[in-house]
Amino acid sequence: MSTENKGVSIVSEKTCQAVVGRPEAFTAVENVFAAMAKNSAYNFPVVREAIGHADALYGFKSGFDRDGMVLGVKAGGYWPGNAQQGITNHQSTVILFDPDTGKIKSLVGGNYLTAVRTAASSAVSIAHLARKDSKVLGMVGAGHQSTFQLRAAVEQRDFEKVVAWNFHPDMLPNLEKVCVELGLPFEAVSREELGAQADVIITITSAFESLMQKDWIKPGTHIACMGTDTKGKQEVDADLLAAATVFTDEVAQSISLGEAQHAIESGLIQISDITPIGEVINGTHQGRTSEDEITLFDGTGVGLQDLAVASAAADLAEAQGKANFIDL
Ligand code: NAD
Repeated sequence: MSTENKGVSIVSEKTCQAVVGRPEAFTAVENVFAAMAKNSAYNFPVVREAIGHADALYGFKSGFDRDGMVLGVKAGGYWPGNAQQGITNHQSTVILFDPDTGKIKSLVGGNYLTAVRTAASSAVSIAHLARKDSKVLGMVGAGHQSTFQLRAAVEQRDFEKVVAWNFHPDMLPNLEKVCVELGLPFEAVSREELGAQADVIITITSAFESLMQKDWIKPGTHIACMGTDTKGKQEVDADLLAAATVFTDEVAQSISLGEAQHAIESGLIQISDITPIGEVINGTHQGRTSEDEITLFDGTGVGLQDLAVASAAADLAEAQGKANFIDL
């Protein structure tokens, strides 16, 4: 629906939750990964600064998707004191612009969308890279993002069980509650046991040291490393990346601030060893080639994912009469 005569659409957090579910987020993220691999969509340099107030980190992620005709910016960051005031520490808002004129089109709440687009990213990797007969899902991490990851992952394969480990064991009930709701057996295990059982592993922590060693991972496992999105963070052994076939959302981020930064730094892998997952989606890379291959997805999180889901939210909210409009 055109917004030309209506002004700027405003799509609230609540409306985003009402109109964008996991299927819509999956499709938006899969499409934009495909466009990125064709060089039809590109991310602009990320700005992230400590503002010297409230211990906040603030920044912008922006880009342009020529295939989807989506231009915009996600602005926001991390305010560690927010939780004490009963609001989310991570705060973001997306602004979408008309690529033909530069006029603002939409203002979209970005908090819920960040969680669903991150979950969609690992889900896309599972859909394209995990063995079809994967039965056990292993979760490393049990914070805010983890339940979104879990819900999106279990829709990709016929999982029969979830095993989980977390640095703070008291957070594991977050995952267990979702498993109970979904009717999936849940078991809290050691990291070694998690590696021994899981066919698919998602890591979603804020760790700065390897949590999973190469020797603990079974042949044929698919691992989605989703927590490492900053220089210095790390969730898995660099040796694991050398043993695995490595895929990512964006190679530039993977080598600089993603999980691959450590294996690249130590010379264990080269940039040419890392494949954009969009190539698998587009059919220009074969993806998994054997039942024994370990596949690893380095999900660093790019601005185009945010813009893709925000654009879907704006379109759906407008079509369903759930957007508000203002003149600027
Ligand atoms: P959260 O604060 O709610 O949870 C943090 C998780 O990390 C918990 O499981 C906690 O127990 C664990 N943890 C904390 N310190 C640890 C340590 N020293 N060793 C091991 N585990 C530790 O955070 P969240 O919102 O769930 O986000 C988790 C991570 O995902 C963060 O690092 C965040 O930056 C990252 N993230 C990535 C993307 C992306 O697109 N890739 C998007 C959003 C968030």
